[in-house]
Amino acid sequence: MKSTAVCEILSVGTEILLGDILNTNCRFLSLELAKMGISVLHHTTVGDNYERLAEAVDRAVGRSDIVIATGGLGPTADDITKEVCCKQFGFELELNTKIADDIKSYFERRGKDMPLSNLKQAYCPVGGTVFENRNGTAPGMGMKKEGKCLIILPGPPYEMAPMFREWAIPFLEEYRTCTIVSHEIRTIDLGESTMAEMCSDLLENENPTVAPYCKPGESLLRVTAKANTATEADEIARPVIDEIVRRLGSYVYGVDVSCIEEQTVRLLKEKNLTVATAESCTAGYIAKRITDIPGASSVFKHGIITYANDVKEKALGVSHRTLSEHGAVSEETAREMAAGIRRVTGADIGVSVTGFAGPDADEEGKAPGLIYTALDAKDCQICQKIETGRNDREYNRYVAASRAINLIRIYLEGGR
Ligand code: ATP
Ligand code: MG
Repeated sequence: MKSTAVCEILSVGTEILLGDILNTNCRFLSLELAKMGISVLHHTTVGDNYERLAEAVDRAVGRSDIVIATGGLGPTADDITKEVCCKQFGFELELNTKIADDIKSYFERRGKDMPLSNLKQAYCPVGGTVFENRNGTAPGMGMKKEGKCLIILPGPPYEMAPMFREWAIPFLEEYRTCTIVSHEIRTIDLGESTMAEMCSDLLENENPTVAPYCKPGESLLRVTAKANTATEADEIARPVIDEIVRRLGSYVYGVDVSCIEEQTVRLLKEKNLTVATAESCTAGYIAKRITDIPGASSVFKHGIITYANDVKEKALGVSHRTLSEHGAVSEETAREMAAGIRRVTGADIGVSVTGFAGPDADEEGKAPGLIYTALDAKDCQICQKIETGRNDREYNRYVAASRAINLIRIYLEGGR
C-alpha cells in the first residue's frame, strides 16, 4: 500500500491577508486533493513580499511532498510567485515562445495589442511542465525534483480550477492513493433529524460513509465512497444511494442536482407544461429562481407580485369575502391566488405564496414564518402550510420560494 503524500497549499496575496478576498482556492484544492487520497497538512497564506514568500516556499518544500501555490502570476510588478518559487526550488526560467504566441493571440482575439508586461508570463521553468490557461493569460506550471513536487497556479478561481482539473490532477497521478467519490441526495420539507432517524443504521457505515447536512429549507445526505477507481467507488455507493432514495421517498427531489429549481424546470420541460406564479411575501423570488435556469422561457409563462389585498382581488380574482374572513395569509387566499393566476394566464400550473416574512409579528399577532403555498392545475389542487419558526426575513422568503417550487415538482412526479 502506497504511503499518503503530504501536501501544503500556499496562497499568495496581500488581499487575502487583509480579508479583502475569501480564500476559496484553498478550499477547492483541499477538497480535490482529499478525493485523491492526498493529505493536506498545512494551509499557508503569505503576502506579495519577496522575503516572506521565499521563506514560506522553503518551509513548505522542507516539510511537504507536494506544494501548490496559487496567485501572483499576473503581469504586474507585485506578481512574484513564479520567480520566487522557481528560484527557491532550483529551476531556471526561460522564455517559452509557444506560450508567448498563445498570450499574443489571446489579446488579438479580443482586438487588442499585448502589453509588453504580459511577456513576463511567458517565462517558464526549464525542465518543468507548462499548464496551459484556457481562461486567461498566465500559464501554470509543475516541477518535480528529488521526490518533491511544486505546482503554481493563477489566482482567479475561474482560471485556477479548470487548470487544476485538466493539468494538475494528471501531474499528481503518482501521488494518488485512492479515489473518493461523493453523491448528494437532496430533500425538501424533511427535517435533518427526521431524515437522519430514517437512515440511522446507514449513518454507521464505513465505506461508503453517509453524513447528514442541512441548508436553508433543505436536508441532504452525502454518500462518500473510497476505492481505487471512480467506477469502483460508484459501485460501492450505488446500493446505499438506492436504499436511501427508497426510504425517503418523495421527499427526495434529486441526486446530484444543484437546486430544486433546476430539477423542476427539467421536469416541466420533459412534460411540456407551463407554469405561472402569483407571489405575495416572496415578491418575485419564485419567478426569479425558476428563470435563473437556462431554458426556463419554454416553461415559465408569467409572474405577478400581488402584495396589496385589492390587487389580489383585481389581478387574480381572489374574493373580497375570502380576504376579509380568512385574511391574506390563509390557505383559502393561497388557493384562490393559484387558481387565479392559472385562469388569467392560461398556464398549465398556477403557483402562489402568501405569508409573513418577518422579522416582526403581523398586526394580528401571527408569527413571522407563517406561510401558505398553493398549486392549482386541471387535475390537482394542493396547499401547504409552512411554519419556519424564524424571524429572519431572507430565510423565510427563500424557504417559501423553495417550498412553492417543490410543490410543482411534487405535482409533476405524481403527488406525495
Ligand atoms: P492576475 O493576472 O489577475 O493578477 P494572479 O495570478 O496574479 O492573477 P492574484 O493577483 O493573486 O492572481 O489575484 C487575482 C484575483 O484572483 C484576486 O483579486 C481574487 O479575485 C482572485 N484570487 C486570488 N487568490 C485567490 C484565492 N486564494 N481564493 C480566491 N480568489 C483568489
Ligand atoms: Mg496579480
